[in-house]
Amino acid sequence: MPLIEQGKSQGAVITFSDITERLKTEQELQHKASFDGLTGIYNRLKFEELLEHALSEAKRYKRPVSLAMFDIDHFKLINDAHGHLVGDAVLKEVTALTQLCLREVDSLARWGGEEFMILAPETTLDGVTKIAEKIRNTIACYKFSGVGQVTVSFGIAQIENSETEDALLKRVDDALYIAKQLGRNRVEQAK
Ligand code: GH3
Ligand code: MG
Ligand code: MG
Repeated sequence: MPLIEQGKSQGAVITFSDITERLKTEQELQHKASFDGLTGIYNRLKFEELLEHALSEAKRYKRPVSLAMFDIDHFKLINDAHGHLVGDAVLKEVTALTQLCLREVDSLARWGGEEFMILAPETTLDGVTKIAEKIRNTIACYKFSGVGQVTVSFGIAQIENSETEDALLKRVDDALYIAKQLGRNRVEQAK
């Protein structure tokens, strides 16, 4: 605001406000919208967005894309035996071990409590089988602090041409269910 005295400008009043905190809060909210708080990987909402995009790309360019869903075996027992905090640590360790097995182009997300999803572009069913087996084996061979062995089960599928998101998710979910039925610590291909 200009300061005018006797018709002459004598200066001005300028106000500033520090928006550092507001900006920080906005950035934090934006981060929370796409990432899981415990593990730091994508959350379900973000993954659904990536999946939708991958489905349309697969249709348009006819390139292979695959999906893997995995779930920690008997995780409730781990929580019951060692407590929730140890359970949380296992979720973080499983995340880190999985990331070691993935390529830069693959996307990893926490789908639910102890359920994870991987989207693997340029990957056939054969390719995603190898990725899933590598992760399954890496986790099964690792000694988790205070817990010992932890295993995971997989349902995997290659995205079919013009398949809907719901149909694809049902296929991997059904395959994961079969992997559990057949004794866990295994990879099952979707029908
Ligand atoms: P299954 O082999 O059939 O998958 O058995 P499960 O015990 O892993 O499956 P269930 O669905 O019975 O139990 C999942 C457990 O995961 C129950 C729930 O308390 C726990 N859980 C979910 N989210 C979290 C979390 O963020 N932290 C911890 N520590 N536990 C969680
Ligand atoms: Mg489980
Ligand atoms: Mg589960």
